[in-house]
Amino acid sequence: MNTVPTFQRKSIQRDAILEVLASTKRHPDAIWVYEKVKQQIPNISLGTIYRNLSELSKNGMILELHAKDNVKNYDFTVSNHAHFVCSSCGSITDVSSTDNTVSTIDGNHIDYMSVMYYGVCKDCLKTAN
Ligand SMILES: [Zn+2]
Ligand SMILES: [Zn+2]
Repeated sequence: MNTVPTFQRKSIQRDAILEVLASTKRHPDAIWVYEKVKQQIPNISLGTIYRNLSELSKNGMILELHAKDNVKNYDFTVSNHAHFVCSSCGSITDVSSTDNTVSTIDGNHIDYMSVMYYGVCKDCLKTAN
């Protein structure tokens, strides 16, 4: 039987999720995270993954991206940065073209920014040529 106390089990699950997110640059969705965490914690449920991901993003420990319809993607990098979303392969990558050091724009104060570029990524362009 599992004798680990609930609070401790919770943080083990949370830590495993954070570890999985930290190990990748691909901005995965909950299903991908679930498949990876399951390798460490076989009895974890998809509901637990969803709950933890939403808690972590509310606490500002991860970013929740709304880059695509009906799916949320997650990012371990929480500092201001822009994303490129490929319409061909669906990949989401970090891009550096936007000045993320500005704190005002047209006289308005910026708390955070969320910039999403859409198009065809360089890997897909290569295979198309
Ligand atoms: Zn692509
Ligand atoms: Zn990112």
